[in-house]
Amino acid sequence: MNLAFLLFCHVCLLINAVSTFQNFSGHKLLGMTPSNDEQVMALRNLMEDPEMDFWLEPTRELQNVSVHVPPQAAQKLEGTLRNVGLPFYTITDDIEKWIEREREENYPGIHLQGRTSGFAFDVYHPLDEIVAYLDDVSRKYPNLTKLINMGDTYEGNIIYLLKISSGGNDTRPAVWIDAGIHSREWIAPATALYMINNLLVNYGNDPYITGLVDTNDWYIMPLVNPDGYLHTWNWNRLWRKNRALAPGFPGVLICRGIDPNRNFDIFFGGPSTSSTPCSSIYKGNRPFSEAESSAIRDGVMSLRDRMRAYFSLHSFSQIWMSPHGYTTLKAPHFDEHMELLTVAITAVEATHGVHYKYGPSSQTLYATSGSASDWVYDVAGVRHSFSLELRDRGVFGFLLPRTEILPTSEETWAGISAIISHLQAKEKTKATPGAPTSTATIAITAETTITTLNLNTTDTP
Ligand SMILES: [Zn+2]
Repeated sequence: MNLAFLLFCHVCLLINAVSTFQNFSGHKLLGMTPSNDEQVMALRNLMEDPEMDFWLEPTRELQNVSVHVPPQAAQKLEGTLRNVGLPFYTITDDIEKWIEREREENYPGIHLQGRTSGFAFDVYHPLDEIVAYLDDVSRKYPNLTKLINMGDTYEGNIIYLLKISSGGNDTRPAVWIDAGIHSREWIAPATALYMINNLLVNYGNDPYITGLVDTNDWYIMPLVNPDGYLHTWNWNRLWRKNRALAPGFPGVLICRGIDPNRNFDIFFGGPSTSSTPCSSIYKGNRPFSEAESSAIRDGVMSLRDRMRAYFSLHSFSQIWMSPHGYTTLKAPHFDEHMELLTVAITAVEATHGVHYKYGPSSQTLYATSGSASDWVYDVAGVRHSFSLELRDRGVFGFLLPRTEILPTSEETWAGISAIISHLQAKEKTKATPGAPTSTATIAITAETTITTLNLNTTDTP
């Protein structure tokens, strides 16, 4: 190799290093707990400022808030906090160090020390590895899985839905789990992938899992927002939205992305949404303008009549939530939701002893409008629709260390499976005495093919 080529390669690497990652050196993460309305309002007024990246939004007094700010905006934020007498603390004064640590711990490929053989579930994976994994399991388990294309994104990536079914000809109740609609919440897709593996590997070996698969069809969309996720790996680790350019804002080329979880046709444009493309909660110009929200809509609508429960995975805050996000009025099935969430939280906390809160989302987290779980409940009519905020409670936030992936996945699975088992037990009790409760047998009929929007067939490509 000659010197010129070596120099050329060196320059390439430098360019690559410079252009690949947005640098967060000196960016701070500040924490605070407002103690009166004036302090809450002062924080809420800062939310329209694109330099203030709220990781925990201000809702009411005595609720923790955290804000990520670049160095040039830190003074403004700290000044505002001092003016209203709100004490704050520094969680980190250099977010870049956290991101570098995460990058080292989760370097793509198979050579990372500590990764188990094959696709490891104790590490965060880039998009191409996740797609390869889904393709791999659909080939490895042709009788149990079907990989379904639910649409192409703005940047041409495919939104995949994996169906796991041992038979029943689409008569069994469906359980839906989606993750990663917000791209920086890496623990959500990691948890969904763990669940896919758990169901497939243990089917036929573990009687509990085998029972859950033989009595339900599982539909898992492990990465709703692949464009945003790719962006978090290649450029901006803290990107939340998709990567679409908003129509009608041709001049705002620098502000890309619509929040797909504000893009559902339910109280569209209500509280906690924005009409400004630069905002991280930009709702888009019309409901279902985005491939990601449309993919969930189409999948859920085709399964609504047999959907036993819907779960949408997010991070962070450690909260299991029922509808609604757009109003604090009680949902019609409030009592049943609380019963199911109590069952879930008991199972979650028994797994690793980690505490989670639960309740309607508008009361436990903050207002959300145009969100998936509200739309699934109100419009699709799925009675058991839940939204989950996984670990942690703000220590690392979106940059949850790799060591917490497996425990988070395990406790989340414990909660979801507890809800499904509980619902099944209740249905069994309600069934006519003497009637058969389950006639499901293992009918191997599915083909391993990628299909388009054909969720209710097991034998059509
Ligand atoms: Zn989220």
